[in-house]
Amino acid sequence: MANKFISIKNLRFLLHDVHNVSQLTNDFEYYKMHDKELIDIMLDTALQIADKELYPYFQEMDHTHVPEVKDGVTNVHPHIPHIVKVMAEGGWISATVPEEYGGMQLPLMVNLCAEMIFQAANNGAMFHSALTSGSAKLILSFGSDKLKAEYLDNMYSGKWLGTMALTEPGAGSSLSDVKTSAELVEDETYKINGHKIFISAGDNNFSENIVHLTLARIKGAPAGTKGISLFAVPKYRKDENGNLIDNDVTSAGAYHKMGQKATPAMHLAYGDKDNCHGYLVGEKNKGLKYMFQLMNGARIEVGVVGAAISSAAYYASLQYSKERTQGRKISDKDPNKAPVPIIQHADVQRMLLLQKAITEGSMSLILEAGRAYDLSKVLEGEEKNKAAMFLDLLTPIVKVYPSEEGIRSVSNGLQVFGGYGYTEDFPLEQMYRDMRITTLYEGTTGIQSMDLLGRKVMMNQGAAAMVFFEKVNQTIEEANTHDELKKYASILSEEIQKLQKTTMHLSSFAMKGEFELFLADANLYMELFCILTIAWQWLKQATVAKQKMLTDNPQGDDLKFYESKIHTMKFFFHYEVPKSYALNTRLMDTEVLTLVEDKELIV
Ligand SMILES: Cc1cc2nc3c(=O)[nH]c(=O)nc-3n(C[C@H](O)[C@H](O)[C@H](O)COP(=O)(O)OP(=O)(O)OC[C@H]3O[C@@H](n4cnc5c(N)ncnc54)[C@H](O)[C@@H]3O)c2cc1C
Repeated sequence: MANKFISIKNLRFLLHDVHNVSQLTNDFEYYKMHDKELIDIMLDTALQIADKELYPYFQEMDHTHVPEVKDGVTNVHPHIPHIVKVMAEGGWISATVPEEYGGMQLPLMVNLCAEMIFQAANNGAMFHSALTSGSAKLILSFGSDKLKAEYLDNMYSGKWLGTMALTEPGAGSSLSDVKTSAELVEDETYKINGHKIFISAGDNNFSENIVHLTLARIKGAPAGTKGISLFAVPKYRKDENGNLIDNDVTSAGAYHKMGQKATPAMHLAYGDKDNCHGYLVGEKNKGLKYMFQLMNGARIEVGVVGAAISSAAYYASLQYSKERTQGRKISDKDPNKAPVPIIQHADVQRMLLLQKAITEGSMSLILEAGRAYDLSKVLEGEEKNKAAMFLDLLTPIVKVYPSEEGIRSVSNGLQVFGGYGYTEDFPLEQMYRDMRITTLYEGTTGIQSMDLLGRKVMMNQGAAAMVFFEKVNQTIEEANTHDELKKYASILSEEIQKLQKTTMHLSSFAMKGEFELFLADANLYMELFCILTIAWQWLKQATVAKQKMLTDNPQGDDLKFYESKIHTMKFFFHYEVPKSYALNTRLMDTEVLTLVEDKELIV
């Protein structure tokens, strides 16, 4: 039975049956303290928290107590502190961290499921704790023992919160242009000066401290990415007596955003009074490399947000479509008969199936990436390397598919509501606004697409792509053992071959040094790669569903669940996969119209 915003049954199916989390907890010492029963209890607990602490405030946080700076104080919704407390006390901020640092050594896959539950209930309310988790992990991975001792306990207990502070007015997509400066005071301590903009959860009126993991350039450092260092810059620093004193990080203002209003996006000014201290994390000039750990995690998190909002929108429109009556079947126009529920109309079914295909396809993709992360932590040698490369390849896809297609999914969800979808009487308009940011922050779709084609597919002579293709082929082989799935296995096999051909064609430009041409349509290459990745995830789900139908003799809701998986897989192959024809045609076409510099043709 699906909750109002997410289906736990679906998450369990994905986690246990499709992506086999038990293999991790059985085979690897690091995860051994968890088992299936415990994991299921954790998901139930996450759902209870979501039901009680998050979902009831979803619309309220959009309409009231929207963060604003007043007299130097950034006020947030009064329930936010309680949510942070619940997340900290439940161990969710440090869930994946080793036990010795107070964590649970939870597989990321499980944590991602919990995140999907929380985000589906109230996505805007989750940033304070989620960003604290990510930024503390940076200190854990790269910080000195002194930094770890001072910050980690405070952050994992939710007393101090954390942010990622990268963006500047002149350095958004291009972080090599970061200008915030750092000047040595002594040891690890530097004076920080500059401006950061759009910093999510960058200020509040309740936490004892906020630690901004900040990119800055040490005076005299080389230009570009090789001269960027990482600093922990607290809102309040400790004086020689251990008392917290003001650290000259000022909130210049909170942006007035389209959605996700529960979290402020702040403009922060560092060192207006020349009295802002930052503490170097790791080695000088390696900041961007370190920050990528946080950014990669955050990119997967954005995928989670996309899948979660899609899920909430899907269950809202599914319910509405069963309750709302309008018109009659095309074959039965008798006005004396009662109108039918709109779910009986083909176009409404199409919209719902699209929502389900995008939502559950995204969720499966996210867990595929989570599993790769978990394996990359515990495997050794070549196998570890493979898992890490595979994760690297999947990360931009996890960022892009659930966000770009999530917008389409929520838009279709809104459409199911007809005119009511456009009103504040229903939550879809808010979900649509909340969702819109996901293609922008953490690297826009354009930037992710260039990363996929220009870096990930090409790296190590295509080694990561080979791992990807091996895994897809394994699913194709498994699907081929079921007569009903053979047709779809064969479609995917052909499409993958075409993708490889298109990739070769595009890489020939790179080999000739024609890089502008090579990446001009990277966005469309991403779209193609995404469609086939999700087709793979759907074939994988359908294969498991088919096996379950053969071995478990399911009845009632269980049978419906598996049948619905196979039906949605077919929908994806018949309605989404054919788009690959247009995309391949465009990508193989050598006439590129978007690189015109000598004339002004866009007027
Ligand atoms: C609500 C919100 C929350 C945010 N939270 C944070 C946060 O917590 N921490 C943080 O550091 N930042 C945060 N950001 C900033 C966010 O990451 C940036 O807005 C984003 O990276 C894009 O940068 P920009 O806005 O400067 O756009 P630009 O970089 O100016 O991009 C504008 C357009 O040009 C395209 N473009 C730019 N460069 C290229 C290129 N080389 N090739 C092709 N196309 C290109 C982009 O794809 C985009 O379509 C947040 C932003 C928002 C709106």
